[in-house]
Amino acid sequence: MLGKMMYQPLLISGLIEHAARYHGDTAVLSKEVDGQMTHTNWRTVSDNSKRLANALATLRLKSSERIATLAWNNRRHLEAWYAISGSGMVCHTINPRLFPEQLSYIINDADDRVLFFDTTFLPLIMAIRQHIKGVEHFICLSDRDDSVVEKLPNVLFFDELLAENSTDFDWPQFDEATASSLCYTSGTTGNPKGILYTHRSSVLHAMALCMPDVSALSAQDVLLPVVPMFHVNAWGTPYAAALTGCSLILPGPNLDGDSLVSLIDDCHVTVALGVPTIWQSLLTAAKARGSKLDSMTRTIVGGAACPPSVIKTFREDFNCDAVHGWGMTETSPLGTMNQIKAKHKSLSKDEINELRNSQGRPPYGVQLRLIDTDEPLQRVEEDGMSQGRLQIKGHWIINDYYTENPDAITEDGWFDTGDIATIDADGYMNIRDRSKDLIKSGGEWISSVELENIAVAHPQIRMAAAIAAKHKKWSERPVLIVVKEPDSEIDESQVLSFYEGKIASWQIPDKVIFVDNIVLNGAGKMVKKDLRDDYGNVLLDR
Ligand code: ADP
Repeated sequence: MLGKMMYQPLLISGLIEHAARYHGDTAVLSKEVDGQMTHTNWRTVSDNSKRLANALATLRLKSSERIATLAWNNRRHLEAWYAISGSGMVCHTINPRLFPEQLSYIINDADDRVLFFDTTFLPLIMAIRQHIKGVEHFICLSDRDDSVVEKLPNVLFFDELLAENSTDFDWPQFDEATASSLCYTSGTTGNPKGILYTHRSSVLHAMALCMPDVSALSAQDVLLPVVPMFHVNAWGTPYAAALTGCSLILPGPNLDGDSLVSLIDDCHVTVALGVPTIWQSLLTAAKARGSKLDSMTRTIVGGAACPPSVIKTFREDFNCDAVHGWGMTETSPLGTMNQIKAKHKSLSKDEINELRNSQGRPPYGVQLRLIDTDEPLQRVEEDGMSQGRLQIKGHWIINDYYTENPDAITEDGWFDTGDIATIDADGYMNIRDRSKDLIKSGGEWISSVELENIAVAHPQIRMAAAIAAKHKKWSERPVLIVVKEPDSEIDESQVLSFYEGKIASWQIPDKVIFVDNIVLNGAGKMVKKDLRDDYGNVLLDR
């Protein structure tokens, strides 16, 4: 017997409709590429997305066609998002920090028909224009600008399209399994792969993101997604923001520590999301300026292992909870988030802090398991100590890549993350490493994440990357690449002695190499493959 309840497809347009109707006057603030701050609200964002939906309809695009965006986190980009997905087309967010060849590869692979862009990226478009012939329309996210027309003669302007079109538009209703957006992995290994989200997965993910044990987002929050909209849909926050009707602050292009401190203090941000490297520069800037980031109650940090020292500084020096989470493009990204349970309340502060350094536990909607690294079908015990390959399944987890890949999921329906982890009886998961970054020394595994976390807790070390260097006797040994704090005199022996007593002596790196800078990829993560290429042979003549 079927139940007798209404059925409505879970559609992204429903989120913006809700925000417009029940939170219409709630502020949406946007830092534009020219540095100006725009004050708008959910009602206007909704109206503009309807105007744009009318404009897209005149371009005679078919449903499910891919519409790309090359843009920062700003309100025009947000309006384009809702117009594209709401109309039944696929919003393909592109990471502008990729190499030009990767950009044209992605645009052609996705078969994008329209490209929305911030003026910042005009030179990038001109550089790849000849290689992306499938793109029929370019829409500049600005008012009319003749200098853009000179270079791209048929360009359309976002503000003109809004002015020419009415808000009279009914969002079409369709199957909730329809594709809504497309995002490519950053392609640190091989060509980038497309991940095609559905309306259903995006809405369920947004609901999960708001849960109290995840980010506890509510209509009382002022949310700052520092994580870019081209990086796993800003972790789903633009959807979650409309769903809760919270105030949304879109930070634009300047994501340096100083700009973020100003934004947080000026806009009274209560919750912000970003990767650890961003938070490290934020903390440095806040300390230098004497800001206490008073309005911030919590920050959600993920995308790479967050050093415990960063979590501790947020909590102890800024009275701001740092909530550690884990996920990937293939998982929308929410996989785990670290919040305690009632039974943990009796633990000491140190014990709670220790528990909360891990990547946390899965919310309802996803499940995790560990599989033996050598025996693909063998389950690994979830005892908090045994390591295995982390696999995941759930409502917002990839089922296949955009370009079909028969190996995308296991025969029994799990996605293999390529991460090595432990899971304890309560489900708390600890990422030990990416399988490709683990260091295998004489048959024993050493976690590069653990070596890095210890190093960056040293006050004179700004950044550290641990890599596997080839070794004649042990096959691989850890080498630590270090960026010092500006005035630091720290030397190799001082770095190495800092490890004593913190890990087993055979895990301590064989060598420390000081460099001026470690390059970060488009998502703010260290590119360890490049470091391995540069320094992977430094131990061979030993
Ligand atoms: P890419 O694989 O191109 O970096 P993703 O953004 O999808 O793209 O990265 C997902 C990966 O980032 C995960 O598989 C994991 O290795 C790493 N990661 C994400 N969050 C964390 C975290 N909190 N701790 C450790 N690693 C993390």
